[in-house]
Amino acid sequence: MSKGDWTRYDAKAPVEACHRLDIQDLKLKSGDSIDMTYSVGESKLTRESVAIVWTRCHFGGRRPWWRCPGCGKQVRILYFRSSRFRCRNCHNLAYKSSQESKLDRHLRKKFKLCDKLGIGPIDMPLFKPKNMHQKTFDRLRMEHQKAEKQTVDDLVMLYKKFYPTKVFRGF
Ligand SMILES: [Zn+2]
Repeated sequence: MSKGDWTRYDAKAPVEACHRLDIQDLKLKSGDSIDMTYSVGESKLTRESVAIVWTRCHFGGRRPWWRCPGCGKQVRILYFRSSRFRCRNCHNLAYKSSQESKLDRHLRKKFKLCDKLGIGPIDMPLFKPKNMHQKTFDRLRMEHQKAEKQTVDDLVMLYKKFYPTKVFRGF
């Protein structure tokens, strides 16, 4: 087995180029790993070997994937943040838990629906706005109910994470 194509990741590459490394951009033909050499600011060169996984394509041929050095998942893109090449998931977890970003997303969705329904962020849609079709109102109300449930579920999950020993009985 070949040790792989030796790619020197130039430390002087612009930040944008360092930011994200799509394996498809490298046009690899073979190799088991890629050695990355980089330095951040004045720090000394760091060398990290990232494994490559090949999978068979549906219509013949093979395509490469990174094996993320953090979690071992097969990914197409590695991101360079906090002096490390890791998959999106690994970096996200370092900043914000995925549960929190899920809650963010669901809350945004709920607030958008509140706007459309003409109600406040903690109000329930009881009355149809005057110039709204009944059908639209019914659909938005259902979506609102779903979004509401999702945010509550997210909160329950977060609560369980921070207070794992306490029994949660609902709001
Ligand atoms: Zn990862």
